[in-house]
Amino acid sequence: MKLKDQRAPDEAVLPAIFGRLLDAYGPQHWWPGDSPTEVAVGAILTQNTAWTNVERAIKRMRQGGWLDWRRIDAAEAETLAEVIRPAGTFRVKAARLKALAHVVAARHGGSIERMLTRQTEGSVPRTIDEIRAELLAIHGIGPETADAIMLYAGGHATFVIDTYTRRVLRRHFLAGANEAYDALRALFMRSLPPDERVFNEYHALLVRVGKEHCGSVARCDGCPLAALPHDEPALDGNAE
Ligand code: SF4
Repeated sequence: MKLKDQRAPDEAVLPAIFGRLLDAYGPQHWWPGDSPTEVAVGAILTQNTAWTNVERAIKRMRQGGWLDWRRIDAAEAETLAEVIRPAGTFRVKAARLKALAHVVAARHGGSIERMLTRQTEGSVPRTIDEIRAELLAIHGIGPETADAIMLYAGGHATFVIDTYTRRVLRRHFLAGANEAYDALRALFMRSLPPDERVFNEYHALLVRVGKEHCGSVARCDGCPLAALPHDEPALDGNAE
């Protein structure tokens, strides 16, 4: 199916998708979390699990005084793993939290805010790419987690690509099946104004439409994006 608009498809369609989703759903008030530390912890705990499990784990951390990077860094991995058990794959996630905590504690005085800020004690501010690279160098932090921390804990204009986003892009002819993460991130970032509020809201809205309509099987009836050119899973058998 060809797009009617003669501009590059991403230029025309990505802002249109955003507008339609925002009109339909309104602001999503993301990310759920009371502080940059809670958001960053949540970004790691949410890997491969439902958010309700993450909430239970974060509640245990909050109640036990575990939202403290120095304490996480100093803790035995097994002890931390028991605290975050409700999040699932808790030993893996404890190791990942400890890896991030070690960098926060050793290089940034135990402050995730200091890690994520562009301001430095020297005269040259860090670039967003430098902050992102520091996150990506940490064991267990891939691009999706790094961008979620950058955007929702650090307030930096970087786009988060997740499974829901990939599905919507593919079904709307904006990406192939196996596009690289960075190619999809670049697609959003060149098609939208570099405004972290837009990126924040857009990702949250894509998750909303993914949960309500565009899951492993597309339910296009009543979807806010149904009027835009899209794949017809029932016809081509392309549902996952
Ligand atoms: S459910 Fe259908 S209309 Fe909605 S985003 Fe997915 S493919 Fe597009």
